[in-house]
Amino acid sequence: MAPREVLVYGAGMSGMVAAYNLAVEGHEVLVRDQEPSYGGSSAFNPSLHTTPLDVAKTSDYVGIDLTDVFVPVSSLALYFHDYEVPAPVAMSYHVERSSRPQSLDTLLYNKCLEAGVKFEFDSQLRAEDVAKLEPGTIIACGLNKPAYDYLNLPCVEWYAWMASGEAESDPYAWIWLDECINEYGYISFANGIYYNLLFAYGQEIPREGLERYRSFMHRVRGMEEDDWEYVHGAAPAASPDAPQLFRDGLIMCGTMSGSIDPFMGFGISGALISGKVAAIAVTDREKALEEFERFNRNFARAYEFKRGLWAELRSRVDILEDLARILGPERTVMLLIEALRRWRKSSAIPGFSPLSCH
Ligand SMILES: Cc1cc2nc3c(=O)[nH]c(=O)nc-3n(C[C@H](O)[C@H](O)[C@H](O)COP(=O)(O)OP(=O)(O)OC[C@H]3O[C@@H](n4cnc5c(N)ncnc54)[C@H](O)[C@@H]3O)c2cc1C
Repeated sequence: MAPREVLVYGAGMSGMVAAYNLAVEGHEVLVRDQEPSYGGSSAFNPSLHTTPLDVAKTSDYVGIDLTDVFVPVSSLALYFHDYEVPAPVAMSYHVERSSRPQSLDTLLYNKCLEAGVKFEFDSQLRAEDVAKLEPGTIIACGLNKPAYDYLNLPCVEWYAWMASGEAESDPYAWIWLDECINEYGYISFANGIYYNLLFAYGQEIPREGLERYRSFMHRVRGMEEDDWEYVHGAAPAASPDAPQLFRDGLIMCGTMSGSIDPFMGFGISGALISGKVAAIAVTDREKALEEFERFNRNFARAYEFKRGLWAELRSRVDILEDLARILGPERTVMLLIEALRRWRKSSAIPGFSPLSCH
């Protein structure tokens, strides 16, 4: 295949994985990003993200050794209100998104530079650019609402209270479920920082919601946090037919490919894998579609699970809490593991790892 010039919008995780893979194949790759530097959206730089991942298999698939930037989680607590269920941590990792040396972005950026990828920062995809883009341009603009609007991609806005700072601690995490949000609150510690996020899809989180979370943190974990910022963004509106690799000749990559929701915590692995699939799509449309289908083959079922059973239970956390109290933490963990084991067979969407690369 003759080398081509490829333009990528978005120097985030998926855009840089795509760019690197194309550059090592000999293509001339230019990556544009609206931020003044790499490291993803400045609103979340630095941030810690937590994900289940098969690091070795994902590294193999994306062609980049990711081992050094994924920090194994030491302990993970799942809270139904105040009731704690210790969750298994096998194959769970924290990863830093930022322009600091230990981040995933720095690793990907350096790999891209080594491979000859060119970057243009402060360079935004605007509404008026879209009609002029060459077919095969990769769109990897993440969770940024204007990009969805320009491309006419159905999206849902998400809202979050966010706090972060410096902290020396074991790399632990918790996930907190409560009716004030329809997703979760989570905190993670790694690389000398912590990152705390209270997060909901499609609904604002009033100050009282944040106060409930702060009260939980204080009561149960003895932690105070005063400095919160309210942020929001967009993600594809989840539906069984949301995953889409091509749109009007453009290649959709990462979050914008519609493959990442419907389930919590799986954005990192999905973005990495989707970057590789987008790179394949530049030269081999059929193969890329096959790969895209393979990784999305159970998206519809996962969607049904989330919108059906999980959303139903989530809206009444007291039921989950009662169940866990009755069963006790150990039996609850066994039940969760069994549910995951069964669901594992049917869930290999990008973004649901450690299974994504199997
Ligand atoms: C606050 C937060 C917490 C999260 N926590 C987790 C977690 O714990 N676990 C997990 O698995 N996933 C998590 N995710 C999801 C995960 O971060 C995303 O799925 C992942 O970053 C998606 O990668 P991406 O390549 O699609 O986008 P990104 O890595 O976000 O990259 C998008 C890039 O596009 C650029 N851009 C945007 N618009 C334009 C434009 N118009 N023109 C040019 N450039 C543009 C941005 O500046 C950015 O650099 C979280 C996301 C957020 C926002």
